[in-house]
Amino acid sequence: MTAPTLPGLEPAPTPAAAPRPGSRAARMALPRSVDVLKEIAAEYGVCVRPLAMRRTDLDTGLTEVIDLPCGATREDKCGPCAKKNRRLRQAQIREGWHRDDEPLPGPEPATEEQKALILLRAHFEFARDEACRASQYDQVADLDEAIREVEEAIAAEGLRGRVGPPHGSADEDSDDEPGRRRKRSTRRRQDAPDLPRRKVERRTVGKIYTAPDGSTFRPSMWLTLTLDSYGPVRPDGTPVNPDRYDYRRAAWDAVHFPRLLDRFWQNLRRCEGWNVQYAGCVEPQRRLAPHAHFAIRGTIPRDVLRTVAAATYHQVWWPSVDVQRYTLDRLPVWDEQATAWVDPDTHEPLTTWTEALDAIDDDPDAEPVHVVRFGSQVDARGVMPGTADAERTIRYVTKYITKHTGDCHKATTDRQRKHLDRLWQQLQLTPCTDRCANWLLYGVQPKKVHARLKPGRCKGKVHQRDTLGIGGRRILISREWSGKTLADHKHDARAWVRALLGATTDSGAAGETGQLVDDQGATAERVRHAWELARPDDPDVGPLSHRLMRSISERARWRTELLAAKDRAAQGSSDLSATQHSAQHHGEDDNSGRGSDHRASGGPDQHE
Ligand SMILES: [Zn+2]
Ligand SMILES: [Zn+2]
Repeated sequence: MTAPTLPGLEPAPTPAAAPRPGSRAARMALPRSVDVLKEIAAEYGVCVRPLAMRRTDLDTGLTEVIDLPCGATREDKCGPCAKKNRRLRQAQIREGWHRDDEPLPGPEPATEEQKALILLRAHFEFARDEACRASQYDQVADLDEAIREVEEAIAAEGLRGRVGPPHGSADEDSDDEPGRRRKRSTRRRQDAPDLPRRKVERRTVGKIYTAPDGSTFRPSMWLTLTLDSYGPVRPDGTPVNPDRYDYRRAAWDAVHFPRLLDRFWQNLRRCEGWNVQYAGCVEPQRRLAPHAHFAIRGTIPRDVLRTVAAATYHQVWWPSVDVQRYTLDRLPVWDEQATAWVDPDTHEPLTTWTEALDAIDDDPDAEPVHVVRFGSQVDARGVMPGTADAERTIRYVTKYITKHTGDCHKATTDRQRKHLDRLWQQLQLTPCTDRCANWLLYGVQPKKVHARLKPGRCKGKVHQRDTLGIGGRRILISREWSGKTLADHKHDARAWVRALLGATTDSGAAGETGQLVDDQGATAERVRHAWELARPDDPDVGPLSHRLMRSISERARWRTELLAAKDRAAQGSSDLSATQHSAQHHGEDDNSGRGSDHRASGGPDQHE
């Protein structure tokens, strides 16, 4: 391909009235060329902190350094990569939102061989139980070995998952301590919400509506769930009365918000009777409490959503945190002999996790230490597929996903900073999980206790100032949303570009630059090449600015080529119209997303 002019080059705009030539002001007014380079890199979607990989041709011994995009999901790390990730998320939401067929067809029926193996496993289970009762422990060991073998065979036969938990190892989620069996508490279970319960169908797609003229449509929904009020706030998000704002509840609610959302979807599915699917994200509101936006496939009556939200709650059955027994200047200490945390003065061991939970079980009046509920504000509306409204909503849902939680609403005034500090103070004291080192402050040894805990200084994410207590995943996508992972979506986008450019996976067909080879090409080549991570100061890597310039040039040429191919496709064929919708969206990707990453073999699947 020969281009008459170098792409991306246009006549320079005439400069505005300048300060006196030669003055310091005039010099400082000139942009730094390295900044401009980064700016252009961002404009062209070129990763600004690429990973240099050295590829060695195993036949010829020639090496070549190739830049791979860093794949960051946060703008503050790498703008272009974060934006590209957001576009993939948008594609994922778009694809699952209005689909009218089931994304994951049910599993194939089990074969006779598979059934026979499961039956054999059942017989072994029975025999093992018999042997245990008869105290024939040598037989138990033999049977365990047999069970291991049959389970391997089950996996080899192509069955998914484990048929049952393994024997002998304590279940991760059980509260039992080794050597002790305790039946699951009835007191600490979650009360069932007051909602109608239906059997949940396998269906994941919404209802079809028929208009009077016979045309059919299948609308979808958009939903926002918010937490309760902790006290009146001003427009800048800060409390009107800081002393009466309930920071403790705000902190606990934020930490347990993900569980509340899980329960909401569970309750909604049971109440509606079908397998409702969602894609959305958790982000902070201006008052710094988390809320969640969701795209929902299909429609659900608004009053059902409200009723389910109002009836949904999550109870936290943890030991009491009413009395803080230790402070940072007087902390419990680890006693190596007792293998326990003990009081610094009396050397009495602190209450163990099991003892603390037993106490809750034994107390007929025990109440959960915290209950999370939604606030009364539930926003929901219908969205028609393919409309500008649908696109706008997707952009809205993904607005903050490239930002750190703490950067979504930067504290700019003193009042906002103080509000953030007060919330953070609470978050530091709030136990994040049942293994949190901060339990020691309340005189309780956390679950799976050990000597390396730092009482009151747990490293858990939710205790950090800039997480606002939102420690888990921020992108929440249900299992049967699009039936694809983010890596699948990435692959789709590439396949589309490849088809448009007529490039094949054969590296030779990619032309002189060799730049149109996709990740599959790289896979096919693996036998020919060895890859290793190059260090930034290796002599063959070269300065970052040189590498950026090369990538930008490549990128600019690639973009021109792609635009030309698009034009050709638009002129040449009307039979493409069926795929045009998705083509347009993938097109957006290409205008600022790819270029330098076509060799990357799938970035990390972000679940932050
Ligand atoms: Zn990057
Ligand atoms: Zn913690």
